[in-house]
Amino acid sequence: MSLADLQFDNRFVRELPGDPREGPGVRQVHGALWSKVEPTPVEAPRVLAVSREMLDALGLTEAEAASREFARLFGGNAILSDMAPYASNYGGHQFGHWAGQLGDGRAITLGEVVNAAGERWELQLKGAGPTPYSRTADGRAVLRSSIREFLCSEAMHHLGVPTTRALSLVATGESVVRDMFYDGHAAPEPGAVVCRVAPSFIRFGHFELPPSRGDVPLLDKLVRFCIRRDFPHIDADGPNALGDWFGEVCERTAVMVGHWMRVGFVHGVMNTDNMSILGLTIDYGPYGWIDDYDPDWTPNTTDAQRRRYRFGQQPAVAYWNLGRLAGALAQLDGDVAPLQAGLARYVEAYERTERGNAVAKLGLGAFRDGDLELMTALQDWMKATEVDMTLFFRALCDVDPGTAGPDDFAAAFYDEGKRRIGEDGLREWLSRYAARLADTVGDPARREVMRRANPRYVLRNYLAQQVIDRATAGDASGIAELLDVMRRPYDDQPGREEFAARRPDWAREKAGCSM
Ligand code: AMP
Ligand code: MG
Ligand code: MG
Repeated sequence: MSLADLQFDNRFVRELPGDPREGPGVRQVHGALWSKVEPTPVEAPRVLAVSREMLDALGLTEAEAASREFARLFGGNAILSDMAPYASNYGGHQFGHWAGQLGDGRAITLGEVVNAAGERWELQLKGAGPTPYSRTADGRAVLRSSIREFLCSEAMHHLGVPTTRALSLVATGESVVRDMFYDGHAAPEPGAVVCRVAPSFIRFGHFELPPSRGDVPLLDKLVRFCIRRDFPHIDADGPNALGDWFGEVCERTAVMVGHWMRVGFVHGVMNTDNMSILGLTIDYGPYGWIDDYDPDWTPNTTDAQRRRYRFGQQPAVAYWNLGRLAGALAQLDGDVAPLQAGLARYVEAYERTERGNAVAKLGLGAFRDGDLELMTALQDWMKATEVDMTLFFRALCDVDPGTAGPDDFAAAFYDEGKRRIGEDGLREWLSRYAARLADTVGDPARREVMRRANPRYVLRNYLAQQVIDRATAGDASGIAELLDVMRRPYDDQPGREEFAARRPDWAREKAGCSM
C-alpha cells in the first residue's frame, strides 16, 4: 500500500465548528474548535527515523518511508488531497493557574486515517510552522526536542504505557532559534518535524476553553463528539452519558499515571492542556526518567515549577487536573454528582494500580494487607540510600530473597558511603520480603511476573542526550539504534548491557531540560 492509498475520515473538522478565518495570523478564536492552516514548507526535508510498528499500523512499508514523497509529506512540504489540515483550539491550567486560550501553536493535524482494521489514527505534525495559536514562538521545533519526543513516544508504547505514538522524525534542513523563554539560550539549532499519531489528540483543555467564555453549547457539542468518536461504547444520548464518560476518563488517567510510577517516568509539565482525554501520555517536553529513586525529582528545571511536577506528585496532580476538567463539565448541567463519582473513581482506580504495581514489581502473587507498607519501606530505603530504581527492581527479579544481600545489588548504588550506611536496612527489608514470599507462587513464576513489570531498559535522559549529540553532529543512526533497544525493554539483550547501565556521573545534572 502506498501513501496515496491512505483512507481519511476527517471527523473533527467535519463535525465540529471551525473558524472561518484561514491562515496563520495569531488570534483569539471564539465559537470554534479549530482553524484551517497548512504546514509551512521547509528547506530540505530528510527522514531521520521512522517507527516500523507505526508504519505497520497505517499499512505503510519501510520502502515507502524511504521515498521522497514520504519526506515531503511528513516534513510539511506536501499534503494529500484527502487530508484536511488544521490546528485545534484549547485552553488550559498551567502551573496551577488558568491560562486562557493556548491551542496548537506548533502542531498541525493532517487528517484522521482509518486503517484496514478500522482503527482511527490522527496524524499530527509537530513543528510544522505557525498557526493562529502560535502566540509565543514560530511554530517550529528543534531537533533535540523532536528526537526526545520521537524516541520516548515509542519507548513508552513498548513499555506498555498508554501514549501518543510517533511515526516519523524529519529534519527540516533549516535552523531554529528557540525562544529564550523555553531554554534560556538563543543559538540557532537544527530544526525537525515529528509526525505524532493517536486515535485522538483531544485534551482536557479543549473542554475547559468554551465554558471559560460562557460558550456552553460549544462544550456540549465537543463532549458529544468526543463520546461518539473516541468512546463509541458509551451511548452519547443515554441518561448518564456524561458521568459514564467522565468516569472512564478518570479511570484511564489513573491507569496511565500508575504506569508512569511503575516505570519511573516523570512527565514534567502536567498542565491540563497536556492531558489527553484518552488517558494517553502526551506532549513530551521536559520529561525525564528516574535514575536514583527520588520522589522529589523533576526534570522541569524552572524553579516555580519544581514542586508541582515532581515524580511522587504525579498522582495528585492528575487528580487536580481532573478536578479542573470536572469544573468545566459542571457547566453542562447542574448535577455535579456524576462528576464527583468520576473523581472518586480516579482515587479508587489509582489505589488499584498502586496495589497492582506492588504485587507485580515485587512478585507477590496476590495483594495482601501490609504489601503497600512493604513497598513504601523499600522506596524509603531506596531514596535514603540513593539507589537506581530500574536496576534495583531488575536485580530483585533474579535474586533468591532468602540468601540475597547488598552485593547482589552492587550495580544499583550511586554512592558508596550511602551504600555502607544502607546495607543493614537492605538486609532487614530482604528478610521481610522473603517472609512475605514464603507461601506464595514459586520462584520461577515470581520472576516471570516481575520481569514483565520491571523493565531492564528505559530511556534514560543521558542515553537520549548521547543520541542527540551524535545526530546534531550529523550522524542520526543512533536514533534507530536506541529505538531498537527500547523495542524490547523487558528482555535481557546480550551485548546491549551498556544501555542498561547506571547513569554515569558526568550525566548527573544534565538530566531532562529540553522542550
Ligand atoms: P507546552 O508548554 O508545550 O504545552 O505549550 C503550551 C502552549 O505554547 C501551546 O499552546 C503550544 O502550542 C505553545 N507553543 C509551544 N511551543 C511553541 C512554539 N515553538 N511555537 C508556537 N507555539 C508554541
Ligand atoms: Mg502542550
Ligand atoms: Mg509541548
